[in-house]
Amino acid sequence: MRFLPVFLDLQTGPVLLVGAGDLARAKLRLLAAAGARIRWYATDGHQDVSGLDAVDAARIELATGDPLAADLRGVIAILCAGAGELGPAMSARAKAVGLPVNVMDDLEHSTFIFPAIVDRGDVVVAVGTGGASPVVARRVRERIEAALPARIGDLAGFIGRWRKQIHSRIPEFPLRRRFWERVVDGPIGALVLAGRGSEAEAALKEIADPSAFAGARAPGEVEGRVTLVGAGPGDPDLLTVKALRALQDADVVFYDELVSPEILDRARRDAARVPVGRRVGKPGIGQDAINRLLIEAAKSGQRAVRLKGGDPFVFGRGGEEIEALREAGVAYSVVPGITAGLGGAAQFEVPLTFRGEALRITFLTAHKARDAESVDWSVLTDTRMTVVVYMGMTAAASVRTGLLAAGRSPRTPVGVFARVTRPDATAAVGTLDELPALVEKIDGGPAILIIGDVVAHSAPWRHANLNHVISELLEAAE
Ligand code: SAH
Repeated sequence: MRFLPVFLDLQTGPVLLVGAGDLARAKLRLLAAAGARIRWYATDGHQDVSGLDAVDAARIELATGDPLAADLRGVIAILCAGAGELGPAMSARAKAVGLPVNVMDDLEHSTFIFPAIVDRGDVVVAVGTGGASPVVARRVRERIEAALPARIGDLAGFIGRWRKQIHSRIPEFPLRRRFWERVVDGPIGALVLAGRGSEAEAALKEIADPSAFAGARAPGEVEGRVTLVGAGPGDPDLLTVKALRALQDADVVFYDELVSPEILDRARRDAARVPVGRRVGKPGIGQDAINRLLIEAAKSGQRAVRLKGGDPFVFGRGGEEIEALREAGVAYSVVPGITAGLGGAAQFEVPLTFRGEALRITFLTAHKARDAESVDWSVLTDTRMTVVVYMGMTAAASVRTGLLAAGRSPRTPVGVFARVTRPDATAAVGTLDELPALVEKIDGGPAILIIGDVVAHSAPWRHANLNHVISELLEAAE
């Protein structure tokens, strides 16, 4: 991000506009509509403000003389549109005195740029592309326009009018925030959005105990909670709507090492982020310590999110965590996520239960060779069962030995699917016999193994032209 979006208070001073023609006039209209005072140096001498309404026109001061010698005291920003050679020269002057300056279509000489704007009264959304593509910015704006309720600005204004009063009645910040969330998300907010402002005013006035309305059990007491959230295998677009909402509401996020930075980025800006994963250089943080952190956070009134790779209940120790929370009397909920096996299957087109070929799926963990040795492989030899192995990279050789010894065919198709749904996702496919060699081909996890005939339908298998293996399989079966 090169340009930080900020909102300029137009009440504090005039904007200096230098330029002429349609370009200058377009900026004039934009600034006037926003309520700016404008000092305009029309470089072609045509100071024509016709077409603007009288109120807007009254805020335009027509300046004469050399803009390069203009008095800049009190000016809040400088704008050059259709100013030709004067643009870079004005930019140098502005930079010398530290004033923000925009020279239209000239990034090099601009210290700020104009975003695409969604204007809903008090709610203003600015969309920028760092000057790279106004067309992209406009497309984004269109989407936001479509997603926002028409009266969202009214809602902000409504809250703005009540803010002070509620502030004095609920001094505790977290509780106050919850009060407004309930207003915005509940019937009062709906009334405002439906254009029934006076009914909304009446409903808010009727709230006798704002703290209780915000959900406080005792006066001023904020109830914290923990939400176990499945982050999915890596692609942030695979977060559920509920997961996103929990992240947006969080005061603190405790996350695993498997959670990608892109996903963490979706959390509320000012939420604290606490790594509790194994590979974060904090050897001391075990499951008990994590449980304690979650309980403490909730008991201090925070909304904690426990963010886990994939799904919290698939080899994620989510069960232990909610047990601890239950014992501690902490409120919690669980938001499922897309587990690595399903993410990998979708990305690499492994139809886990292809009709007639696989009737069952087993999710299995084989953390260490020792674990793999303790698995009863004999229950996994059904050729119509797809086996998905988590944490199976280092134990791949034992997985192979175990399955072969139990009688599964060495020609069973298998795939190693690494870093699934991430930009650097990769796969290696082959036969069960080749499994250790396939794992060798993968340059780093996390990875899952999928074992079963359905792997022969996968995209990497098709691309590797391994179909001869299938025909051999069929022949062997005959
Ligand atoms: N709760 C997680 C699993 C955690 S166990 C889930 O539901 O996905 C950790 C194992 O998950 C890793 O060893 C690996 O086998 C698998 N895994 C997690 N993320 C993965 C990814 N992006 N690609 C491939 N495997 C992944």
